[in-house]
Amino acid sequence: MTSTISISLSLDEKGFIDRACPRCSYRFKVKNSCWPKSKIGGLPWARTFAYAFCPMCGHKAVSDNWHTPEQIKAAKKIAVEKAKQQVLSQIDKSLVRFSRSFSHNPFVKMEYKPSFPYRHINTRTPFDQALERNIVCSKCNASYAVVGSAFFCPVCGENTVVASFASAMSNINKALDALPAEKKVFEEFGGVDFARDQIRHLIERSVGDIISTFQSFALRLYEDLGGHGAKPNDFQILAKGSALFESLTGKAYSEWVTTDQLKFMNLMFQRRHLLEHNNGLVDPRYLDKTNDLGYKIGERIVVRVDDVRKLQAITLALSNGLLSQLQVPKP
Ligand SMILES: [Zn+2]
Ligand SMILES: [Zn+2]
Repeated sequence: MTSTISISLSLDEKGFIDRACPRCSYRFKVKNSCWPKSKIGGLPWARTFAYAFCPMCGHKAVSDNWHTPEQIKAAKKIAVEKAKQQVLSQIDKSLVRFSRSFSHNPFVKMEYKPSFPYRHINTRTPFDQALERNIVCSKCNASYAVVGSAFFCPVCGENTVVASFASAMSNINKALDALPAEKKVFEEFGGVDFARDQIRHLIERSVGDIISTFQSFALRLYEDLGGHGAKPNDFQILAKGSALFESLTGKAYSEWVTTDQLKFMNLMFQRRHLLEHNNGLVDPRYLDKTNDLGYKIGERIVVRVDDVRKLQAITLALSNGLLSQLQVPKP
């Protein structure tokens, strides 16, 4: 006869459960409600297995096999205690029954007092302290927490850095491709001037989209490469971001894009700053940072679709170069 004892694993104060990769032993945490769980049927073949992925090495395995050594050790101890109590309480119950069977017997009297001391079992399993680096998967929305590098979502296996960047960039492309069709709709809806304004607004917004996508990509990659303490805004300034990556990998942005391309990127970064903070109007600071001879103070900058596409192409080239450093083994 087999019997099953189930033990629930304890969660940290944020509701995360500790996990360890069965292949590389990498430890991480996942919000317990996000962790994929196998469905248990009545029969072994009625079981539907769920799978999980290691954020570090990408290993895929049935989600039931990701316990930390501490969880396994504590769970074994709890299981032994529970089993002991079950067996002893069974013995107690049978002896009580046996003694009662004599209750109507006038010749034999038997009394049994349960002697087994019911001890309290500590059913808490150990867990590590909550981690500070929390990531939400852009594909499946799972929350997980790691220390240092993490390349894959433990729940859906997506290569998170690459995937979120690639999908954001492709959405920007789609938005640019849709402009002529949108222009027609706007014209029909509100006339030529209205359409021109709306399209200008969309083109300007796509500059901001490219730059903010790059910023979050760069920050995430910087952390995945082992960097600490950087802020998203550090990657708004090309020289600062470049220096941060250089300190980690020995390679500055100029390794991946030409000086002219960097100059153009800087120009577009500064224009985005104007659009967001000065309604697109040229100020002395802009001229100082760009040496843009095409504008005077007080004029409004013009962003063309070609500029946006060019910025996107350069940003992609730079990002691919930075990304290639993930494959370089650390010294
Ligand atoms: Zn692993
Ligand atoms: Zn995911």
